[in-house]
Amino acid sequence: MLVVTLYYCGLTTTIYFSYILSVSYNHFGVTIAMAILNVLQFPDPRLRNKAIPVEEIGPDIRQIAENMLETMYAESGIGLAATQVNIRKRIVVIDLSEDKNEPLILINPEITKLEGKEIMREGCLSVPDYYDTVERAENIEFNYKTLDNQLIETSTDGLLAVCVQHEIDHLDGKLFIDYLSPLKRQRLKKKIDKQEKQQLSVS
Ligand SMILES: [Zn+2]
Repeated sequence: MLVVTLYYCGLTTTIYFSYILSVSYNHFGVTIAMAILNVLQFPDPRLRNKAIPVEEIGPDIRQIAENMLETMYAESGIGLAATQVNIRKRIVVIDLSEDKNEPLILINPEITKLEGKEIMREGCLSVPDYYDTVERAENIEFNYKTLDNQLIETSTDGLLAVCVQHEIDHLDGKLFIDYLSPLKRQRLKKKIDKQEKQQLSVS
């Protein structure tokens, strides 16, 4: 069955946020100052970097995860991979809940089984204002480490399965638009070139 659902990582702005928020947060039992990070946008070549596995989950990794969550919420996204904020580590954050209070932090996520087909309309914080359908696996088995260094082996389907596949692709330097036909990719490239020219002429 063909299922088409609007799925998006949210829209983004071109404003560069790098300030530390004055609020601090006690999510992991430690008070951490959070920062909203700059999200790289296609065709930035750094989006093609391959992320390296996290060796030790310490305070630095917790801080990165916190900042990534904060960035994802600020940009109204449902998922963010470290590659998108120019951090070459295998870290992904996801939150599919309506109230944005069920964060999922995946350290070194790995898909071990792909099954079935699912077609969804996707978007990406790194490719603003563009949505298109992508075919992915419907059911996946995957594992990851939590911030408490626990190994979780689990399976999922539907939107979460699509989101995990989309974000792990980012860690491997891959974007959802890589799955589009050459013609669609060419059209998107023209649209982005045009936007860049317009931005240059007004700045
Ligand atoms: Zn994305």
